Amino acid sequence: MKWVASELHTHTAHSDGKQTLPELARGAKKLGYDCIALTDHNTMSGLADKEAVERETGLAILPGMEWTTFYGHMVTVGLRAFVDWRQAEPDNIRAGLTEIHRHGGVAGLAHPFRIGSPACTGCYWEFEVEDWNEFDYIEVWSTTFAPIRPDNRRAYALWTDRLNAGDRIAATSGRDWHEQKATDDPLSVTYLGIEDEQAPLAEQALLALRAGRVAVTLGPLLTLEIRSGATGRTYGIGAVVPAAADEGVSASCTALVSLQFSVREGLWELPPQSYRLAIWSNKGVVAERRIEATDDATYSLDIDAGDTTWTRAELWGVVKGIYTLIAFTNAIYFA
Ligand SMILES: [Zn+2]
Ligand SMILES: [Zn+2]
Repeated sequence: MKWVASELHTHTAHSDGKQTLPELARGAKKLGYDCIALTDHNTMSGLADKEAVERETGLAILPGMEWTTFYGHMVTVGLRAFVDWRQAEPDNIRAGLTEIHRHGGVAGLAHPFRIGSPACTGCYWEFEVEDWNEFDYIEVWSTTFAPIRPDNRRAYALWTDRLNAGDRIAATSGRDWHEQKATDDPLSVTYLGIEDEQAPLAEQALLALRAGRVAVTLGPLLTLEIRSGATGRTYGIGAVVPAAADEGVSASCTALVSLQFSVREGLWELPPQSYRLAIWSNKGVVAERRIEATDDATYSLDIDAGDTTWTRAELWGVVKGIYTLIAFTNAIYFA
């Protein structure tokens, strides 16, 4: 599995951004991203020179659009064609999701708890949701230094609640990047797990997002696999660990957590410290350990997977003097 650094929420001057697509792409390249999604508000006109910019920068650019309505913002990515957002009403977001999926796209809630009107029209999510499984993801980390922001903590808690309720839904970060302005804030990276390195990257990135092969971080790349005691096989992020006929056997699993500090070298930094690695599930924290070393390594933690419906890894530590979540994986599910 190759993990590709991605930024999934960006704007150009075709909506309210203060940058062109080439400026955005060059800026993303400098920050170590391999893939971006352009998600201008209610327009895809900024994508006209996409191929030329991809050739110039080597970056994969996913076509997208941010549905910007009075009742919420929704990021859509991977669309083969414009899908009209103007019929969106509080009780019919489902019809829009069907159209987006029919045109090859995926959709996620954008910054669902950001303060809405009058500060930011429609930024707060108010659409009625009947079936959360119809959404591909929730953008749980928005803007910069995302994990310390109260609205993002609410979004992260919403994601956890949905996982606990049995929904299979991914979680991403998005800078909501509007201009090339330097910041000292830590930047989030959404890593997408690419299965076929020979295939076009944009296509593979979309498959990864749809399958929930996603890991989000302010720095080191944190990924997870579950080795099942029942089948002896390992299952990656987004996959489902099958139930075993013998329940006693299925309960013993090993979480294999890979932590790579060597990614995007020189583009982020954390103070020397002892990190806390935790394995979460619907039962709460089921395993944890301290991490002192910053060499790339894989850690094995035994977990009791009885009555488990999902699990994820989290890395906690100090960033700019604040103890916070630094990285998290998306879920591995249990049948
Ligand atoms: Zn928005
Ligand atoms: Zn936006």
